[in-house]
Amino acid sequence: MIKVFVAKGDNPYYITITALSKLNFPNLSNRKVLIKPNAARLFEAKAGATTNPNVVAATIDFLREIGARKLAIGESPIIGINVMEAFDITGISKVAKEKNVPLLDFDNNPYKTIPIPNGRLIDKIKVTSFIEEYDYIISIPVMKTHMHTGVTLSIKNMKGMLWRRQKIVFHQIQAPKEITNGEKELDIAIADMAKVIYPDLVIIDGTIGMEGMGPSGGEPKNAKMVIASKDALSADIVASKLMGIEPFSIPHIRIIAENRSFNKNNIVVSPSDYLKWKIDFAPPPKKISFSYPNVEIFDIQSCSACLSTIFLFLKRYYNEIEPYIKKDGKLNIAIGKGVKDCPKGTIYVGNCSCNTKEVVDGIKVTGCPPVASQIWEKLKSRYKKG
Ligand code: SF4
Repeated sequence: MIKVFVAKGDNPYYITITALSKLNFPNLSNRKVLIKPNAARLFEAKAGATTNPNVVAATIDFLREIGARKLAIGESPIIGINVMEAFDITGISKVAKEKNVPLLDFDNNPYKTIPIPNGRLIDKIKVTSFIEEYDYIISIPVMKTHMHTGVTLSIKNMKGMLWRRQKIVFHQIQAPKEITNGEKELDIAIADMAKVIYPDLVIIDGTIGMEGMGPSGGEPKNAKMVIASKDALSADIVASKLMGIEPFSIPHIRIIAENRSFNKNNIVVSPSDYLKWKIDFAPPPKKISFSYPNVEIFDIQSCSACLSTIFLFLKRYYNEIEPYIKKDGKLNIAIGKGVKDCPKGTIYVGNCSCNTKEVVDGIKVTGCPPVASQIWEKLKSRYKKG
């Protein structure tokens, strides 16, 4: 039987302690414990994109209470983000300072190559070498929907252990149909990663999650819950159900469950009537144009960083550009290394799409990733000319 505990309430610190206090822990006094929150972007916790610092604070206090002595917090953020700035903005730096816990920039250490036995797509990955120094890993993701993967929870959060641009590689793999069997390469790659990077403990921060265009362009969802388990897959399944999303409709969850011959009937959730707390998260839109009419996104093999730039750009500037777009008919934006057949006048965002042979008659916004205001500047000059 695999236990999963759910706690609900207004106080993130208190509900984290409540969920953790139900679990049986091994002796952590001589273990080196690595806390991996989501501090991959420059957002305060109230935006629902990054881990709530009070959940991290409660985790540290609880672990110390049960005897853990060697703790650290680490992250490798999305491309273009400075992790120490992200720790500051999320509020995690303040907690780390108060509690005297070191902050680690995963990308600042050399990498270690880990082989993936029987990897379906990947036979090895580059990860932060901190993984060798710590022997008890805690994943503290935010409960979010995700445009590329359906949801992003405790297993997907471990992608932040990958070293520097290894994260991007996951988005750019192309494999023949005989291997993918109709599944997306990214989902298979995450499942391959989970064969060798699997956290020892999971605390899913659903205090303020994100729905819709996650992982960064959605709306905050005040779900007021925390989910804790020693099994990441079980926790992710329970969290999906609480989000109103059928867990096995999420490709990486389904593939990992198959890889592990997982029996979902072995999950025991406390409280047993936990679904009384189910709060439906709006799923990620299949097409961005559902939320931004007259905008078409061509997205093939992009990574989350360029996707975040597009979300931010549309959030900030859509109202201003809408009248111009209406005159033009449509605003076409392309991201990712694999884009093709884009209409005339498409805006190519990011070096990946700018470097394709596609860009014959379009606007290039270079960078890896570029920032939202760069797209705006290019567009202004286009509309002024028009
Ligand atoms: S250009 Fe964009 S999609 Fe390409 S690697 Fe950089 S951030 Fe990712």
